[in-house]
Amino acid sequence: MSRVAYVNGVYAPHGEAVIHVEDRGFQFADGVYEVWSVFDGRLADFDGHMDRLFRSLDELKIAHPMGRGALAAVLRETVRRNRVRNGIVYLQVTRGTARRDHPFPSGDVAPSVVVTARSMNRTAMEAGARKGVAVITQPDIRWGRCDIKSVGLLANVLAKQAAKERGAYEAWMVDEMGLVTEGSSTNAWIVDKDGKLRTRDTQANILRGITRAAVMTLIAEQGLELDERPFSVEEAKQAREAFITSASAYVTPVVSIDGATIGDGKPGPIALRLRELYLEKARDEAA
Ligand code: PMP
Repeated sequence: MSRVAYVNGVYAPHGEAVIHVEDRGFQFADGVYEVWSVFDGRLADFDGHMDRLFRSLDELKIAHPMGRGALAAVLRETVRRNRVRNGIVYLQVTRGTARRDHPFPSGDVAPSVVVTARSMNRTAMEAGARKGVAVITQPDIRWGRCDIKSVGLLANVLAKQAAKERGAYEAWMVDEMGLVTEGSSTNAWIVDKDGKLRTRDTQANILRGITRAAVMTLIAEQGLELDERPFSVEEAKQAREAFITSASAYVTPVVSIDGATIGDGKPGPIALRLRELYLEKARDEAA
């Protein structure tokens, strides 16, 4: 099936879709992105990702390329044209194309918009989640505004590559105090020795995950105890359970950290239950 990408107003064959060489996204990573999971052709956590997109744009003073409704139409049309029933849709917005110069371009430079979508094999993903994944740890060398979903992902790329080279699925990044911030493309969680759910607070330099927020609601609904408080690598290794959350991994159990087995080495019951509940809700509420 031929794929299609949306680039600045045009739906182009995927292999021919291009941006300008002086696009500021390419030259400076001067842009932001969002990712939605697609369930039966509909977008999960629709408003949460849309709100975060506009916040990221506003924080960087990048003009809104179009209104929310128009953007939603482009996302849905890209999903439709790619015949994605189950998968993922990506949106990148950059400050646009201008002669290479660090300051923002003066005048009316239109932001660039790119939308791509692809199908995912949910059966294979489900099988992976049932086994659980390994994570490694890496120093967090990112900039100080990780709350902005910037396309500047080099530190995340290096961390994920290190994980891959060590046979792991994800890298948890660790700050100078030895505390876990988040994964290279996921938020990091544990169920600690006392049975409390722990994840880094949003005062820290992390992305405010939309899946993280959805899982927090589920935790409250389930009457589980949440402690939004940093944890060390050592605490994580001694945790009853560990897991990661993101739009593309949902809730995925972690069964080892830097080679140390978590719990009994199998996905924990709380992580598996939260995955089930998240998937149910995401599917139901997809728009
Ligand atoms: N942290 C980072 C660094 C990420 O890239 C992502 C995924 N975009 C997340 C956390 C998870 O965020 P979300 O649940 O909104 O996908």
